[in-house]
Parts: sequence; structure tokens; C-alpha cells
Amino acid sequence: MKNLDILIVGGGPIGIACGLQAKKKGLNYLIIEKGPIVNSLFNYPINMQFFSSSERLEIDDIPFISKEAKPKRNEALEYYRRIVTSNKLNIHLFEEVLEVKKEDDQFTVQSTKEKYSAKNVIIATGFYDLPNKINVPGEDLPKVSHYYKDPHFYASQKLAIVGASNSAIDAALECWRKGAEVTLIIRGPEVGQRVKYWVRPDIINRIEEGSIAVFYNSEVKEIREQEMTINTPDGDIVIANDFVLALTGYMPNFEFLEMLGIQLSQDNKKLPTYDSATMETNISGLYLAGVICGGMETHKWFIENSRIHAKLIVDHILSKIKTKIN
Ligand SMILES: Cc1cc2nc3c(=O)[nH]c(=O)nc-3n(C[C@H](O)[C@H](O)[C@H](O)COP(=O)(O)OP(=O)(O)OC[C@H]3O[C@@H](n4cnc5c(N)ncnc54)[C@H](O)[C@@H]3O)c2cc1C
Repeated sequence: MKNLDILIVGGGPIGIACGLQAKKKGLNYLIIEKGPIVNSLFNYPINMQFFSSSERLEIDDIPFISKEAKPKRNEALEYYRRIVTSNKLNIHLFEEVLEVKKEDDQFTVQSTKEKYSAKNVIIATGFYDLPNKINVPGEDLPKVSHYYKDPHFYASQKLAIVGASNSAIDAALECWRKGAEVTLIIRGPEVGQRVKYWVRPDIINRIEEGSIAVFYNSEVKEIREQEMTINTPDGDIVIANDFVLALTGYMPNFEFLEMLGIQLSQDNKKLPTYDSATMETNISGLYLAGVICGGMETHKWFIENSRIHAKLIVDHILSKIKTKIN
């Protein structure tokens, strides 16, 4: 077993930023990613446009040039892929980390392929793997999905979309424009206030003109093969339905964090414990980076404001090495 200075779990934008920073500082590092490079971005809707402008998604000041101010998914894939390949980052793809254990001052990391030894471990596993379930009968039917990819699939179909945030609203507009009959089911009284400022008027106008149907203050009660029941302020309503997109957000893998021994706040935010100056958790040598830091508050951290984690962590690891040498 080779003894690494840093093992990074997750090859998303922030895991990559950590790898790049470690490489620049001459540390012996490895990124382990369970899917392709930037797996979460790869799984975003194919036409997705970031709300951030491209310079705010840059890592290590490497210029990100996009056609429009706010890049599209395929441009982001190109950007992060080129960072990995042109810097020859040490990354293992399609390999999942199953277990991280600490004994004395050393971490042992077991993946689906190998066992590693590392002095420090960075967890940069994001939050896109686990959807917030709506927990109703029928949610497991094949016609229900928690991920939206391509509007073509829903053309000429009766599509119900659950949710009021960016993912749900983008999907509703795109699918309606490609010929789906869209019904939005929104738990609150309005379209989410955090919906991109240039998209919100579009959806509100489509709802007002009757192109997209909406049930406000409503929740799905049951999904069946060809219809669904919605609980509305006027009582239960049954609508015909071919497909359901339940786009009600995602959450970090808390079981994984707890298995590592990271303390979570006891309220429903489940905030992981870490020092915001160094990103070190309650376990010395174990760090958090990227959007995983927000617990259930997944809207708090983005690439924009978490790319700084890479430098904070590597600086802290270097300072520990210096102290040891001295
Ligand atoms: C639809 C959408 C739009 C967004 N738009 C923006 C935007 O415009 N601007 C912005 O700044 N942010 C945006 N975000 C937020 C942010 O871009 C993403 O959450 C971003 O991917 C976070 O980067 P990350 O590296 O922290 O996590 P991720 O990109 O999620 O990377 C985590 C990686 O860890 C891997 N992984 C997980 N578990 C394991 C394991 N056990 N072993 C190995 N690998 C593992 C995953 O496969 C994944 O590749 C958006 C998020 C979503 C969902």
C-alpha cells in the first residue's frame, strides 16, 4: 500500500480543485471518483445552463471561456475535463470509496477496487446522489424519476413535475416547449423565490396564460400507472398522467459522513462539524470540501463559494508538515 499525503474522495469540480492544488504544492495525492470526471455535472439535464457566470466557476484562475456569460453543461464538462487531462491529475474513475478508517495517524481507505493508505483524506462527495423522496405510494413506479435529462422524452405526454425550484421550473419550461402537457405541483403558494431571475417571469407568464397547469399549496398523494391523486386546497383531485418528475432536491450521504465519524448537528439541518478556517472536521486529518459542507442546506454552497476550500485545506496540510519537520 502506497502512503499518500492526501486521498480525495469525489472528482467533482471541488475534488478536482483540491487535486490540482495538492499537485501544485508537490504533495502525493489521489482523487477517487465513482463515475466519470465531474459525475454530477455529467448527470445534469443536457441543456442545463449554470446560474453562475463562467469566471465564477473557474478553479485555480484557469480561464473558463463560454459562448454566453453563463455557461452550459457541455461547456463545463469540457472545462473541468481539460483541467484533469492537461494537468495529468492523478484520478481513478469508476471506483467507489466504501470505507475510511483511522488508526493512529493513518487513514485506510477501501474502495471497490483497492485499499489505500493516506495521511489526510478530503471528502468532496457533493449532494447529487441522493434525492429527497416525496414518500408517497407509487414513487417507485418506473414512470417516476428524481432526475431530469432530456425534454424530447416527454413530448406529447402528460407530465407532472413536483417542485418549485430551479430544476423543476427549468424542466417544466423545456418540456412544455417540446410538446409535453405539463402540470406543476407546488407545495407552497408560489414559484420559488430562488428561481433564476431571468427564468421566473417566463414560468409565471406561461402559468398565467394557461400553457402550464399548476396546483399551488398542493402535494402528491398517490401515483398510479395512468393517473395520480393530488391533495389540493379544494380537496383531492385525480389527473391523468404518463410521467412524473419529482424534482424536490437532493441531500448529502449522511450515512457515509457518520460512518467516517463526522459529527452532524442534531437539528434537521444536519450540519457537519468542521473548522471553517481549515475545513478540518472533528477528526484530525479528515477534511470536507465543496457543497457537502452545507448538510441539508444544499443552497448555501456552490462551486462559486466553495472552490476556495482547496487552498484552505492544502495550506493547512502543508502547515502541519512544516510543524513536524521543525
Ligand atoms: C442543477 C444544478 C445546477 C447548479 N448550478 C450551479 C451554478 O450555476 N453555480 C454554482 O456555483 N453551483 C451550481 N450548482 C451547485 C454545484 O455546482 C454543484 O453542486 C457542484 O457539482 C458541486 O461540486 P462538488 O465538487 O462539491 O460536488 P459534486 O460535483 O457533486 O462532486 C461530488 C463527486 O463525488 C462523487 N462521489 C460521491 N460519493 C463517492 C464515493 N463514495 N466514492 C467516490 N466518489 C464519490 C460523485 O460521483 C461526484 O462526482 C448546481 C447544482 C445543481 C444540482
